[in-house]
Amino acid sequence: MSYALIIGEVRKGVFEERNLDSIGICALLQKETRLLIPDNTYAMDERLIDTIVKAKIAEDMFLNPINLANMVEHLIELHGNPDCIILTNSSSGTEFASYLSGMLGLPIITDVSDLDKERRVFLKSYYSDKLFGEFALVEQRPFILTVRGGSFKEHCVEKVNSPKIEYIDNFAVNDSRVFLEYVEEEKSEVDITKADFILSIGRGVGNKDEVSGYGELAEFLKAVLSGSRPVIDKMWLPKARQVGTSGKTVKPKVYLAMGISGAFQHIAGMKDSDCIIAVNKDANAPIFQYAHYGIIADMHKVRDQLKEILKG
Ligand SMILES: Cc1cc2nc3c(=O)[nH]c(=O)nc-3n(C[C@H](O)[C@H](O)[C@H](O)COP(=O)(O)OP(=O)(O)OC[C@H]3O[C@@H](n4cnc5c(N)ncnc54)[C@H](O)[C@@H]3O)c2cc1C
Repeated sequence: MSYALIIGEVRKGVFEERNLDSIGICALLQKETRLLIPDNTYAMDERLIDTIVKAKIAEDMFLNPINLANMVEHLIELHGNPDCIILTNSSSGTEFASYLSGMLGLPIITDVSDLDKERRVFLKSYYSDKLFGEFALVEQRPFILTVRGGSFKEHCVEKVNSPKIEYIDNFAVNDSRVFLEYVEEEKSEVDITKADFILSIGRGVGNKDEVSGYGELAEFLKAVLSGSRPVIDKMWLPKARQVGTSGKTVKPKVYLAMGISGAFQHIAGMKDSDCIIAVNKDANAPIFQYAHYGIIADMHKVRDQLKEILKG
């Protein structure tokens, strides 16, 4: 029986929401799904899966790509080759995927964000969504995909039957690489995920000296100040204020983005905001595709004018 093998992403026992994109693309591909997770995983919607394979291995050992490859090889011995192996496009997902591709000699397409079902063509983006590439598989053999967060989860469908549960433990375990610990992010005085109004600044702010002016504007607006990753990487704002895939996901009533281009890693963290307003001097900036209102202008001039108006 042909099937898609999904490698589940689990953190501290919790089934990560981003797995829904892996499940969603399997539904689009109309594949029977077999999900591999460590035993004792919780917070999973089992109704979306055909077969759940629970590996008798601790999560820290599951996070070793050599062990993962051993488990996949063991599953192939038991059930034959999958049609495809699907992972999330997270840092661990891409690491596992590239390792599996090398170990099993399988073709790989990373960061898949869309699928043309008719043509069986996978899409991925380049240069912050400014360019898209199409990939088709020329040979009838298993392939590996990593899927972009937020791209396919709406395609998940509930199965009619409860999932079959299988356990595996008869695979080689390698402890040459030891997972030490998860390092929690610093606690911050501000929780941007709870804010109703967010003013977010990007690299367009130019330099650190300009940032305080946006702090003042945020105060006038009764907004919380956040930033895109370059602003955080340059340490102009603390990490807890970063919006995006490697920062926080926010859903305020108003998201005012100034000097932010609209890379998908940023968009993924704010696209569900009720109202998005973008200020950018480049009329072709991708963020305008997501904005409800757009202002093509120098952000500093907009900042200063807004402050003048709000001062009364
Ligand atoms: C694994 C990974 C994870 C990532 N995670 C995140 C994440 O969580 N969050 C995130 O934001 N990014 C993330 N990134 C980075 C992301 O790819 C982009 O590089 C980043 O979002 C770009 O930030 P930006 O829009 O501020 O800068 P840029 O892309 O450089 O855009 C700056 C924009 O400012 C405009 N501008 C310049 N001057 C002015 C002015 N005076 N007035 C008005 N507009 C002006 C420009 O036209 C441009 O559009 C991640 C990348 C990777 C590889």
